[in-house]
Amino acid sequence: MRVGVIGGGQLARMMIPAAIELGVELRVLAEAEGMSAAIAAERVGDYTDTETVLAFAREVDVVTFDHEHVPQDVLHALVDAGVPVHPGPDALRYAQDKLLMREGLSQLGLPVPDWARIETPAELDAFIADHGGAAVVKTPRGGYDGKGVRVVHSAAEVAEWFATIAEDGNAGALLVEELVEFRRELAQLVARRPSGEVAAWPLVETVQVGGVCSEVIAPAPRSAGRLADVAADVAISIAEGLGVTGVLAVELFETTDDRVLVNELAMRPHNSGHWSMDGSTTSQFEQHLRAVLDLPLGGTGCHEEWAVMVNVLGGPVEGTLADRYAEAFEGHPTVKIHNYGKAPRPGRKVGHVTAIGSNLDDAVYEARAAAAVFQD
Ligand code: ADP
Repeated sequence: MRVGVIGGGQLARMMIPAAIELGVELRVLAEAEGMSAAIAAERVGDYTDTETVLAFAREVDVVTFDHEHVPQDVLHALVDAGVPVHPGPDALRYAQDKLLMREGLSQLGLPVPDWARIETPAELDAFIADHGGAAVVKTPRGGYDGKGVRVVHSAAEVAEWFATIAEDGNAGALLVEELVEFRRELAQLVARRPSGEVAAWPLVETVQVGGVCSEVIAPAPRSAGRLADVAADVAISIAEGLGVTGVLAVELFETTDDRVLVNELAMRPHNSGHWSMDGSTTSQFEQHLRAVLDLPLGGTGCHEEWAVMVNVLGGPVEGTLADRYAEAFEGHPTVKIHNYGKAPRPGRKVGHVTAIGSNLDDAVYEARAAAAVFQD
């Protein structure tokens, strides 16, 4: 069995141990030499070039992804050539374009923030006026880690986005949403096989700082019962309704008036699921491989009551993460450390640590303290 992963980032890298354990051969089509996943059987090539991607796909049994950026025409060329692609183009387009995603979720009747497609500053100002004087504007394509998301009180604050929407593949429009008052952010991960089986992990709480995920607590505190059931139902409805295969991450808002709204979708393993590598019977990376190979899914139960994952953002100013191993291992022997093999750079996700245990405060403390060893 050979799985081809397009994209050589840390998600492809973290599929490698799972593939080794299952005896699955993993091939990676990386964007450049020396990326995180370079330790797998790696090809370097342009994922926007149909011939390059077709040649890569001929060597594998199924193609999947480390990111959402492979263009639709390339994806369709794979499908037309008979290559199994998971998630397929018709599902993936909802993760590639936030306007399409909002349309798709609204058509499924799922709870989303109030939203509109806007083409002119006047339309944006009208939306802002209707929504209490503030709104969130998003570029439909290419945003990540909060880039391409802006809270505004007037259309003038995104004047330059209007100037470029016609040119940069954004279909001549921006997405505007109500500014949601949320108590916290949550994420629900599920996996779905092409033949239909679905498995859900526990609902988790995610903490973002400056638009970037910094911590994840699994399960989300005070979520047992109704909240967990609602979130799982929403994510499974999305996986089935949009025909998603592989891992689906659904980012959610828990609003101050006790609603659960869908913010974002990712159709691949996701930062909010990294805890599962150390905290769950089946990690999201193993589950993704099982799902895209259409094999029965693994159990999603937890080893301990709590798992806390803290991202290592930026890393040391001088040297590498490994330079700090002696200190981290000495001080935090129960914490699991994951190094993405990337050069440290301010704001960059270069690794994560996970602590599990029966006491949440202890797990939070240990994970934060261990992550701090790697950050200046
Ligand atoms: P990205 O694709 O960059 O992850 P998101 O759409 O997930 O962008 O938004 C990034 C962050 O911005 C979210 O995690 C949330 O904190 C905030 N945010 C996004 N949409 C809204 C909204 N409608 N109301 C309030 N906050 C929002």
